[in-house]
Amino acid sequence: MQVLVLSDVHSNLVALQAVLADAGSFDAIWSLGDVVGYGPQPNECIELLLSYPHLAVAGNHDWGSLGKMDLRDFNVDARQANLWTREQLSARSWGYLEALPETLEEDDFTLVHGSPRYPLIEYLVYPSLARQSLSFFSTSVCFVGHSHIPSLFACTDSEVRVVTPALDVPLKLGNERYIINPGSVGQPRDGDPRASYMMLETGEHTITYRRVVYDISVPQALMQEANLPPRSIARLEFGW
Ligand code: ZN
Repeated sequence: MQVLVLSDVHSNLVALQAVLADAGSFDAIWSLGDVVGYGPQPNECIELLLSYPHLAVAGNHDWGSLGKMDLRDFNVDARQANLWTREQLSARSWGYLEALPETLEEDDFTLVHGSPRYPLIEYLVYPSLARQSLSFFSTSVCFVGHSHIPSLFACTDSEVRVVTPALDVPLKLGNERYIINPGSVGQPRDGDPRASYMMLETGEHTITYRRVVYDISVPQALMQEANLPPRSIARLEFGW
């Protein structure tokens, strides 16, 4: 099965549309949370996801927008955007976000937003944290989002390797266990403003990192109209 693995769309419809157009054919989408927050089109992003067969888990911004997570835990820009998002959500979007589970297991893959230990809040950015996570999931592969940074940890009992996969080059996973972040669709933070995502072939355990350019000025103009924080508008251009 060919799966489009994505995370952290953050209400950026144009970026999501670009990813879907770039991905070619696939059987399903796996979404790793934060479909809303920061950006200007929360309902449109949810509706677009709903038009595809997909699995999804909850992110901290999804819960923050619903009031399921204390907004004092967010930075000031994120908090403002979550409050704005709360006002925009349709009943259908609200119900969709509210029903998202914290973790999912599908075949040999675990899906979670932050980490398998703290699904909504932990940033899995260091090898030491990857190692500590291994006992909190039982599948070979755990997909995570949250950091907005594409990353891959290959883990054995004795070591954690940080792998830097090349873009567009299929990588066949071996016998190690893996923690894999596809990066962010709607607000990349690795210095590359292009939308980031990943294709997964579930039978072969082959992944391919991808990036796609989108028209950043569109969400920026909509964010301006909605009076969303200037810093959130500016950062899209720089990928941080
Ligand atoms: Zn996020």
